[in-house]
Amino acid sequence: MTNERNNPITTILWHYDFNLRANIYCALFVVEQMKYCQGPKCHEYHTKDRIRGPKGDKHYETRKRSSFYYGNDNFCDQRCMYDWVNKHIDHALDHFGRIHEPKRTGCDAAWYKVSKWQGYNDDNASATYLHYFVNDLLGQRISITQQQYDNKELTTPS
Ligand SMILES: [Zn+2]
Repeated sequence: MTNERNNPITTILWHYDFNLRANIYCALFVVEQMKYCQGPKCHEYHTKDRIRGPKGDKHYETRKRSSFYYGNDNFCDQRCMYDWVNKHIDHALDHFGRIHEPKRTGCDAAWYKVSKWQGYNDDNASATYLHYFVNDLLGQRISITQQQYDNKELTTPS
């Protein structure tokens, strides 16, 4: 009887089996991660990538992907996203609440930052910018440093 552990054929088969199983697990994981486009008419669009089924049962199907670009990772394209919006928007607004009077942004919350290009420096390789806090409601413009401009925490002049 040959020693199983040192038999090269056994070793090769073991590696092959291990890789095969690893690949199946990966494939299953990907399949589990796949999800369908939520567009209500996705299956009605005549693109080749939506065609599924064997001869005699050919049909268009809702797109399935591991991730989508549109609508918070829910829709395969803008058309599908707007199909959903057009179909459900009134229901969604009634459910989450419509705006019946204007919302307001007051003076205190109306500050924004701007950077204004001044021109090239003498070296012609870098440019000078001036930075400001601006408030159109108060009619104010306040100079700030580049550091203050870049500071995301700083949203109003102190
Ligand atoms: Zn779709």
